[in-house]
Amino acid sequence: MKLLIVEDNARLVERMKYRLEKWFVLESVYSGHEALVAATAHPFDAVLLDLGLPDMNGLEVCRRLRKISPDMPILIITGVDDISSKVELLDAGADDYLTKPFDAQELRARINALIRRRPRLPSISAVTAGDLKLDPSKRTVARAGVPITLRRKEFDILEYLVINKGRVLTRDMIVSHAWTSTSSSWTGSVDVHIKHLRDKVDKPFDYPLIKTVYAVGYMLDVPSETIAEE
Ligand code: CA
Repeated sequence: MKLLIVEDNARLVERMKYRLEKWFVLESVYSGHEALVAATAHPFDAVLLDLGLPDMNGLEVCRRLRKISPDMPILIITGVDDISSKVELLDAGADDYLTKPFDAQELRARINALIRRRPRLPSISAVTAGDLKLDPSKRTVARAGVPITLRRKEFDILEYLVINKGRVLTRDMIVSHAWTSTSSSWTGSVDVHIKHLRDKVDKPFDYPLIKTVYAVGYMLDVPSETIAEE
């Protein structure tokens, strides 16, 4: 995941980089002009755009970025005083906005939500784990050839587990992937969704795929004796 940060406050850029570099590859520019050059040169998974830039109005930058790359998520970062109206931001092609000061977890959750919402390319093919097959573009799931119907959030969580199979995912990671903003009260419902997923994806079948990692979170893992059949 590669993000472009467009922000003229160097200290804020450093803080954002420090907080986000664990999860994203970051490139930063300090002006609207540089942002347009960077976005033309290569694609980004999302742009974090400050409205108060030295050379151009942020809304104008947003409009032009939207022309360069119609599907690239744009998250506006703004001081409370800069914000004209939400409608104006959305008209300019922004996908979401955050007012300064913002919380790094909140920022990360919004970025993840935007990246996920982006139209998926039809070329994204199905992913498998053992006898489980999940197709992100069609949003279908089947196990041992049996189609499984999942609710939207259940699908989002399972997709995240399958894509990261063999890796432990904390409840916080699952929340920030499957919910649009973070709230500690939602981590409880991760467990509820996992229970529902297990009822549909694991219980009717030969072996469980979703493992509980005590005191940490969850992991999707294919028992080793079944890997050969994959
Ligand atoms: Ca600024």
